[in-house]
Amino acid sequence: MIPLAEARALVLAGVPAPQATEVPVAGSLGLVLASDVRSPSMVPPFDNSAMDGYAVRFEDLAHVPCVLTVSEDVAAGHVATGGVEQGTAIKIMTGAPLPAGADTVVRVEDTVPADGSVEILARPGPGTAVRRAGGDVAVGAPVFESGEVLTARHLGVLAAVGVERVQVYRPVRVAVVSTGDEVVAPSIRPLAPGHIRDSNRPMLIGLLAEMGLEAIDYGIVGDDADALRDTFARAATECDAVITSGGVSMGEYDLVKRVLTELGGIELWKVAMQPAKPFAFGAIGGTPLFGLPGNPVSVFVAFEQFARPAILTMMGHTSILRPRIEATLAEDVSTDPEKTVFLRVVVEAGPSGRMARLAGGQASNILSATARADAFAVIPIGVSDMSAGDTVELEMFRWSNE
Ligand code: AMP
Ligand code: MG
Repeated sequence: MIPLAEARALVLAGVPAPQATEVPVAGSLGLVLASDVRSPSMVPPFDNSAMDGYAVRFEDLAHVPCVLTVSEDVAAGHVATGGVEQGTAIKIMTGAPLPAGADTVVRVEDTVPADGSVEILARPGPGTAVRRAGGDVAVGAPVFESGEVLTARHLGVLAAVGVERVQVYRPVRVAVVSTGDEVVAPSIRPLAPGHIRDSNRPMLIGLLAEMGLEAIDYGIVGDDADALRDTFARAATECDAVITSGGVSMGEYDLVKRVLTELGGIELWKVAMQPAKPFAFGAIGGTPLFGLPGNPVSVFVAFEQFARPAILTMMGHTSILRPRIEATLAEDVSTDPEKTVFLRVVVEAGPSGRMARLAGGQASNILSATARADAFAVIPIGVSDMSAGDTVELEMFRWSNE
């Protein structure tokens, strides 16, 4: 058996480097910047008011209360026709350009309007409620660095500074294939004796979608060497990575194993982990292939431990592992001391801190419990029994509000 850390290092070393490309900002959500971004313009583009109120000259407020003549109103999106002269004010709305001559805005709450004039009740500090041009981003300023993951907030900033296209690492096209004579499309009704619905493919397509990727669906291939060989070879030619499930364990009909080894540089591993001990990895003509086990929980665990970090690496991400935090076990557990064990747990706020409770049955076919889970409780090699109250390390794949 290969230790998990070693297996993962081999996988990460075996995937191609990310490739840069240019895309419109609108299509860049979730991608990783491949070059630094500098701002071509200022944000805000002009001095403007941060409040609804009156644009004034600070020096006119030496003695408050005082009365200033209101020469005009200026709304957001409009420009005052004149400036603020001594003893006058311009009524101004949030976001409207600060008129010439003004240096301070008195908020409307501190004023009493009259006909053609305004009484100023309070004296704010000089420059109050004025947002300076370039106060957020200056022209030429570094905005984002290569390697940053573009979130919705980044897209907002890029729009504000006027950047329309960005250099990113291109999204990875991932093929998903299910295997097995017993596996049928989830839409099949009624289920024939011995058949089961394909849960791996919808799950894997969804896991990839959660990473911002559109999976390429290669359907279900039965336990037939020619069909498996053709599909794997075609998927490897057409996509950047291939994920298969089923057929890599010890069974006699595990043709996937045979076909994968025949196709080239793919190895079958026994990883010292539970679930998901059998795992195949390698490349067909340079395209990495992840041969996941068949049981749905094993598929999820192997995807999380191998495929997800590897595909994130291919997408240019440098933070590729789930966050790890500690929690208190809510119940006793017994695990295989020769393996890193991934228990599926629900995480709850308890009276004395964060608690981890088994999400349900822990057999590798019980996907319903995995669906309810928030995290893996990672039980390291060498540990066989843990008790309620012990501290356990969690790998979070869902954060809920604690
Ligand atoms: P295998 O490794 O092919 O022997 O599969 C191990 C177990 O996973 C068997 O019980 C299979 O029926 C089940 N299995 C394989 N593929 C899928 C799938 N796509 N969806 C649900 N269960 C599957
Ligand atoms: Mg099978």
